[in-house]
Amino acid sequence: MNIAFVGLGTMGAPMVLNLLKAGYSVTVHNRTRAKEQPLVEAGAIAAPTPQAAAASADIVITCVSDTPDVEAVILEESGIIEGAQAGALVIDMSTISPSTTREIAARLAQKNIRMLDAPVSGGSEGAQKGTLSIMIGGEAADVERARPVLSTMGSTITHVGAIGAGQTTKAINQIIVAGTYWSVAEGMALGLKAGLNMEKVVQAVGSGAAGSWGLTNRSSNMIDNEYPLGFRVRLHQKDLEIALAAARELGLPLPMAAYVEQIETGLMAQGYGDEDISAIARTVRDMGAIE
Ligand code: NAP
Repeated sequence: MNIAFVGLGTMGAPMVLNLLKAGYSVTVHNRTRAKEQPLVEAGAIAAPTPQAAAASADIVITCVSDTPDVEAVILEESGIIEGAQAGALVIDMSTISPSTTREIAARLAQKNIRMLDAPVSGGSEGAQKGTLSIMIGGEAADVERARPVLSTMGSTITHVGAIGAGQTTKAINQIIVAGTYWSVAEGMALGLKAGLNMEKVVQAVGSGAAGSWGLTNRSSNMIDNEYPLGFRVRLHQKDLEIALAAARELGLPLPMAAYVEQIETGLMAQGYGDEDISAIARTVRDMGAIE
């Protein structure tokens, strides 16, 4: 089976390495073409455009930044739609708008090209280890066709519903992340202000009902006031905008998601957009005058 992969960033590059490790033939393309080189050295074939990458592929995977970027690599000039064969399957693993996903799928369907939305959770660590959680929207037959390929990149593969359902599920994921991180930041601020031993605090509350991935893995950033890159503030802010737009279409208010989206917009304005999202603790610390 031939696979094409477009978008070799933090997530895409290690995902391609896992496909190569599993023995798949992979043709890669990245807008900044220098990023193709390490993957070519690992056995991939480089292609000059998304169209060229898709030309001989059974499955074409995209993992680029945002909604307009997926539209660009699939629908615009030299895009996947111009190269893919009828019957090919496009799997978009970026995190983008559910409604635009449905529009792209409809455009591809006019050329008998199938599509799944398959956004992921699990971060760069999950992409490297092949342990991502993959949330899928689309037809069951296409999911079964994709499953062996997806299982090289993820350990939890869930077919949620029709096209777009994967993206809506990812939006839910990001709303929950927003709330838990913000709560962890407030909790840590209280402990710091009260002068507690924060290692003991995290140990005590982490094994009870307040336990969460954010508490276990990112509270130390918040305590140390250092936020080395894991998941960028600007990507999470983009994901919350997607969640808020999807909710607006359904007439649903999401006050906490809107609040954290605004906090993250403020962090971006202050130059922190490329820090890990645990940097929302900066705002909590500032409000409480914690040095
Ligand atoms: P990234 O490191 O910033 O990489 C983005 C990739 O998209 C780069 O290869 C970039 O090309 C390409 N790209 C962006 N706009 C493009 C355009 N208009 N045309 C062509 N290529 C374009 O981002 P990432 O962290 O890999 O994230 C990719 C997707 O996965 C995003 O939707 C993100 O929300 C999602 N995601 C990320 C994480 C995470 O922990 N990082 C976790 C879960 C999901 P250049 O190299 O030329 O810039």
